[in-house]
Amino acid sequence: MDYLGWDQVEAGAVLPSFDEVKGDIALLKQAERDYAPTNSYTASVADWRVFKPVFNRDLCIDCQNCWVFCPDTAIIAVDKKMVGIDYEHCKGCGVCVDVCPTNQKSLLMFDENEDNDRALQNWPEKIKKEK
Ligand code: SF4
Ligand code: SF4
Repeated sequence: MDYLGWDQVEAGAVLPSFDEVKGDIALLKQAERDYAPTNSYTASVADWRVFKPVFNRDLCIDCQNCWVFCPDTAIIAVDKKMVGIDYEHCKGCGVCVDVCPTNQKSLLMFDENEDNDRALQNWPEKIKKEK
């Protein structure tokens, strides 16, 4: 599909979010929704990133802070458990890392080209508090 630029859309045009709404959309998981081509969910912002967040399941306490504060709904959580990051919709802003309360952090920013498994192997140590 060819996307229109913001200045090519006619003033007052309606850009539908969904092609068809069956039942209560809030009860469907993101991937199960019938998105219209004009919904931003169908576009990827992956190539905007210079740094990416990497998630460390072993340290996460499922507080959901990252899910609440991510401006792009790019944190994947199922049944109040943090599952991972939707890298198609993550723009690499780092907000999730800032709001993650654990020490060591359960989310950290790494270079976009870093391998996730290698990032997990090189996870920084717990930060000691100064007395
Ligand atoms: S880096 Fe930003 S966009 Fe990506 S998951 Fe974290 S808060 Fe969301
Ligand atoms: S903010 Fe950190 S500890 Fe809380 S759910 Fe997200 S990754 Fe886990």
